Amino acid sequence: MMKREIQGITLECRQGDIARQSDMQAIVNAANAQLRMGGGVAGAIHRAAGPGLEEECRPLAPIRPGQAVITGGHDLPNDYVIHCLGPVYQVDEPSPELLASCYQNALRLAEDNHVRSLAFPSISTGAFGYPMESAAKVAFGTVMDALPRLSSVKHIRFVLFSEGDVTLHAEVVEHLVGLR
Ligand code: ADP
Repeated sequence: MMKREIQGITLECRQGDIARQSDMQAIVNAANAQLRMGGGVAGAIHRAAGPGLEEECRPLAPIRPGQAVITGGHDLPNDYVIHCLGPVYQVDEPSPELLASCYQNALRLAEDNHVRSLAFPSISTGAFGYPMESAAKVAFGTVMDALPRLSSVKHIRFVLFSEGDVTLHAEVVEHLVGLR
């Protein structure tokens, strides 16, 4: 686990399940274009949220790589779910820019809805094949660039599936903080 305060905002990485973040006001879904259940993160979120989430998502689909939409949390312990479609690595190009757009758009929707705390999974690093370390650099670089513009979001958590992924993310953060 890594926790740091940067420019008045808590930035954290921890091991866990994105669908079980009861202390976060919003969670981010690594969605598919149709905003359906699917596997990985989307499967875990839709299972925990119940069928009402797919129903609310239906008229919002399809979305394009880099886009994000917001819905309620339904049976999840969170008020909101922000659904991002990450790029398929080296298929949806430019993959780094499209991945950065996911984080930018998710933060913008969070701010628009006065969200105080937000948990991200590692978008695109499962079925979409984005190498974890490159994805972590894009994710944190984008989030850290956005920090000065945030006013309602005070707590950002990255929820990773394995301890190894947490260590890798913590190293990327330390490196980026060192560069600034
Ligand atoms: P994508 O289709 O965007 O690649 P995936 O859901 O397949 O999204 O995976 C994204 C990342 O989330 C992967 O690193 C995967 O190991 C991880 N992951 C899968 N399920 C969960 C979960 N329930 N909570 C947190 N992370 C998860």
